[in-house]
Amino acid sequence: MSKITKIGFVGLGIMGKSMALNLLKAGFKVTVWNRTQEKTKPLKEVGATVAETLEDLARETELIITIVNDTPDVEEVIFQKLISGLVAGKIVVDMSTIDPGATVEFSKKLASLKIEMLDAPVSGGDIGARNGTLTIMAGGKKEVFERVLPVFQAMGKNIVHCGGNGDGQRVKMINQVLCGLHAVAMTEAFSIAKDVGLDLDIMHKVVTSGAAGSWALDNLGPRLLKGDKEPGFKLSMQLKDLRIAHETTQKYSEKYRGTALAFELFSKANEKGLGNLGSHGLIELYK
Ligand code: NAP
Repeated sequence: MSKITKIGFVGLGIMGKSMALNLLKAGFKVTVWNRTQEKTKPLKEVGATVAETLEDLARETELIITIVNDTPDVEEVIFQKLISGLVAGKIVVDMSTIDPGATVEFSKKLASLKIEMLDAPVSGGDIGARNGTLTIMAGGKKEVFERVLPVFQAMGKNIVHCGGNGDGQRVKMINQVLCGLHAVAMTEAFSIAKDVGLDLDIMHKVVTSGAAGSWALDNLGPRLLKGDKEPGFKLSMQLKDLRIAHETTQKYSEKYRGTALAFELFSKANEKGLGNLGSHGLIELYK
């Protein structure tokens, strides 16, 4: 199998912009497309080709990466827009976080056209995307994963083949249950510390280094201390991920009360208009 050199990249948001930049830095030929065209400019300035349409992007590239928002967005991008330019032998890699069941259906539809698909959601946040240190969890055929691996290596460090189609999204769902509950734990801890009259910097310095430590406390804790609630990872996106986890786990049992609680708290925060804050903006619920 020949080495992949021409990559199409769809979705230049917080994550996608940095990921596409890292692909360019690694020497890949990258063609980009974004719904809001303005966001393609910084990529064009450093050598990316800007496609007029998604059909053109699909025609001109061998591997197409999508990182958009939610399940209906991925469906729209692939099956209403890219599809007319996709032919047998192309590979679609969806790196958005979406419903595991839907990604399996998408991969089956594409397989019927002899187009391979991997689900390859990521974790590591805006920082990991910028530094090229994302965790990438992929589902799909092992041989397709191995072919795409050099592309993943330009964007991530911990790159794991999790199993067949859907298994990348299933692992990501678990990851997002943990992230949601960590965000609840951290914002509740900050709120309690304030109520009992503690110095928040001192509290944070102590709890990060012991058994209570977490990625959230290390990376989002300092932002909370500065009063910086900009995303990172939007609260509305964390809610989307908890919705996927809540709907999926409810199919099995109602015993997953932690997931249900995190979903409820993030839903309330979103209803209060906090969706565009970072996930640590959940702290506003406690005020
Ligand atoms: P974002 O900044 O809101 O960017 C979303 C991107 O998707 C934008 O380029 C947007 O286009 C595009 N988009 C959305 N719906 C679309 C549609 N229907 N058709 C075409 N383009 C569409 O989001 P993000 O933070 O980069 O997150 C992207 C994905 O990565 C999500 O699934 C998220 O859960 C996942 N993720 C995010 C993080 C993080 O820390 N941010 C970490 C891990 C995983 P416009 O520019 O036109 O709006």
